[in-house]
Amino acid sequence: GKWVYTFGDGKAEGDAKQRDLLGGKGANLAEMASLGLPVPPGMTITTEVCTYFYEHGESYPPELEGQVNDALDLIAASTGRSFGDAKMPLLVSVRSGARISMPGMMDTVLNLGLNDTTVEALAENAGDERFAVDSYRRFIQMYSDVVLGVPMRLFDEHLEALKETRAVELDTELTAADWRELIETYKSLVAKETGKPFPQEPKDQLWGAIGAVFGSWRNDRAITYRRLHQIPERWGTAVTVQAMVFGNMGDTSATGVAFTRNPSTGEKALYGEFLINAQGEDVVAGIRTPQDITEAARKAAGSERPSMEKALPEAFAEFKAVCDKLEAHYRDVQDLEFTIERNKLWMLQTRAGKRTAKAALKIAVDMVDEGIISKDEAVKRIEPASLDQLLHPTIDPTAKKELFAKALPASPGAAAGEIVFSSEEAERLASAGKPAILCRIETSPEDISGMHAAQGIFTTRGGMTSHAAVVARGMGKPCVSGAGTVRINYAAGTMTAGDTTLKAGDFVTIDGATGEVLVGEVAMLKPELSGDFQRIMAWADAARRMKVRTNADTPHDARTAREFGAEGIGLCRTEHMFFDPARINAMREMILADDTAGRRAALDKLLPMQREDFTQLFEIMAGLPVTIRLLDPPLHEFIPHGEEEIKEVAAALGVDPDKLRNRARALAEFNPMLGHRGCRLAVSYPEIAEMQSRAIFEAAIAAAQKTGSPVVPEVMVPLVGLASELEFVKKRIDATAKAVSEETGQTFTYQVGTMVELPRAALNADRIATSAEFFSFGTNDLTQTTFGISRDDAGVFLGSYLREAIIDVDPFVSIDVDGVGALVKIAAEKGRQTRPDIKLGICGEHGGDPASIAFCETVGLDYVSCSPFRVPIARLAAAQAAL
Ligand code: ADP
Ligand code: MG
Ligand code: MG
Repeated sequence: GKWVYTFGDGKAEGDAKQRDLLGGKGANLAEMASLGLPVPPGMTITTEVCTYFYEHGESYPPELEGQVNDALDLIAASTGRSFGDAKMPLLVSVRSGARISMPGMMDTVLNLGLNDTTVEALAENAGDERFAVDSYRRFIQMYSDVVLGVPMRLFDEHLEALKETRAVELDTELTAADWRELIETYKSLVAKETGKPFPQEPKDQLWGAIGAVFGSWRNDRAITYRRLHQIPERWGTAVTVQAMVFGNMGDTSATGVAFTRNPSTGEKALYGEFLINAQGEDVVAGIRTPQDITEAARKAAGSERPSMEKALPEAFAEFKAVCDKLEAHYRDVQDLEFTIERNKLWMLQTRAGKRTAKAALKIAVDMVDEGIISKDEAVKRIEPASLDQLLHPTIDPTAKKELFAKALPASPGAAAGEIVFSSEEAERLASAGKPAILCRIETSPEDISGMHAAQGIFTTRGGMTSHAAVVARGMGKPCVSGAGTVRINYAAGTMTAGDTTLKAGDFVTIDGATGEVLVGEVAMLKPELSGDFQRIMAWADAARRMKVRTNADTPHDARTAREFGAEGIGLCRTEHMFFDPARINAMREMILADDTAGRRAALDKLLPMQREDFTQLFEIMAGLPVTIRLLDPPLHEFIPHGEEEIKEVAAALGVDPDKLRNRARALAEFNPMLGHRGCRLAVSYPEIAEMQSRAIFEAAIAAAQKTGSPVVPEVMVPLVGLASELEFVKKRIDATAKAVSEETGQTFTYQVGTMVELPRAALNADRIATSAEFFSFGTNDLTQTTFGISRDDAGVFLGSYLREAIIDVDPFVSIDVDGVGALVKIAAEKGRQTRPDIKLGICGEHGGDPASIAFCETVGLDYVSCSPFRVPIARLAAAQAAL
């Protein structure tokens, strides 16, 4: 097989479409090379080798070595350098790259090929001894850490000790002779730690690094990252081996990272950061705070340090042209890594730029206006779940603020929480349900789960492209970075800016829009949705087939959902209406009543309250469909269980506490989820369903008179398994409708339907559809009843199922297409056999999950219903499903 693909000198064996095989990085390097851009020549070893590696006890396909050697020959021909050559040595980087970028999760080795001989040639060629020996000692450090497992810390200790002996503070103050001394120390350290000398043979170094990069696919942080981003284990990583170029050859050399448009705001302006005389990951690691690329950005930031545009004008001009070319070629914002070696530009990476939701909207809309993409493409480019970020709060401009520090606005949104200095603390607070702001000098990939647990992230080092900033934007978390004035003392658990010291556990608020860190918990405002948002949503609405409704029980929810564009209510649960303190005692009277007459008397008290509830909802939803579910939970949920409370309630109701106690005992169930609930209540106590239907119909008449646009109430009977159950309840509902119509002299339209949440209902949907005019798939319960898993108890074991890859996703988050989905499909087909125009919708949690919404489109459901804040997400996801 072909395991290796080469690129360089204006040609390449692969291209951008081969991400699966070459990884994103390798595929795009190949594409850039073919476009004739300046890319150091190299080769990509495919992800299939990674798969092979893990399936064959960490060994390689037999043909691999030969193919790598052939590729090395090509690189040698192109650069005029070869491995180990005493005059013109070839140095390479060994880089990881999966299909989807996993920033900083896997390993990279730079300067490979250096040894005691080639370091002298490098010094000679560069005319710079210090540069060469510095590169060598960096290489020993990085290689030993990544490949040989000698901790970086041990090297740092020696480096610090040397600086102390020389009485200097900065690395840059050390001389070539100092580095040479340190190299000898490093070599003995490696020999002591590994029992072997540091490998001098470049080929040995290379195979060590290749193995380490493949090995890093399964390191802990990569595994965590994949779990959080649902990246399958089997994808594997590719390895790219590429000729080195040097950004650390003095003041005409530099390295940097840029976006073709601002990834935070979407503004159409080249945006980025660079460091003069620096190598590789110095920018991303946030070790020195970088400089702006353009003059405009430098001025806006008020920075004194020169921009790249000023400092390296020729390289800047070439870079700008490359940016324009790449953006036009990919028709999307690019995130670029580059190095300038003695004024010569080299491109090292390009990929679609990660961006905030706000930026994504602006960029998509701008690109439509610029004629680069179509409206449908714009709709497809927005990650539905990312809209969540726009619903983030912002700081109330009128709130009183005490500024602690000002830093860079690295990821938008405001967040408040307790100060924590470690990821472990952030996770501990999160599991106690408390908000935390993770405060670090800088973050590293190890902090990924802590960043996930925190409400927001604050770092004192690093720029907008630092690890913290990139990861936070990806997660949609507010982040403020590079607060140079703040000193964090991990040991003391404090951070200090000027005269102010804050301790772990104190509250802070960070503002990802301004970069401010504020003392205490500051008031925040609900977000406002921009014009870009409205335009994208209008395009999405034009593209989608399914309607989007909301699950709303209260007027407040209903109003919010309408603002977000809900087209009706898909699920109104009525039970919460009874929990209101003013009502619950009437409900309890009903439960305690000894006979139907007693129950009816209590229900008569509830009727006007229910009618008022529904009238309000119908008015808000003026003319739109509203599905109301009849009482669903078991009655024991409404009566008190503690002794104290039983006594209080008995006194309030004027009954003997014993009566209450006995009733509670009688209603107790072993498994309430499968107990006396849903339509079973309506069968035992038809008068409850009658009261609720009466309230619904009377409210429909009242609301129609007020708004002039009559709603069509949809009365939904829950937990039906048998056609005869629904027939029984429907008879009562129809009789009530008739009575209301006769009493009021008004006519109205309504529908009766059922929630499909039992496998039996799905399998007998044809029979049920003889009396059901609509089905609403209650996929929360349907998932529970299909799997035989109780959602409330699943947390304990579903975690292991996910970790062990027994399941790919939590079936309560994303619909289980093979099981629950199969039942939905059967029910939809059978329902339509009986009643071709039957209305079909989904109202479980899945109604707001983009993957589940895509499934609903394939089944041809008429609508999805979700919580109010997910309505925009569902509108967009429904559009994408239809496109
Ligand atoms: P990551 O996936 O973590 O971004 P990369 O493979 O992109 O890792 O490498 C990190 C950095 O190392 C790059 O941004 C680049 O600056 C530097 N680098 C990688 N390869 C080379 C090379 N051939 N020459 C010079 N610098 C390189
Ligand atoms: Mg990179
Ligand atoms: Mg249910």
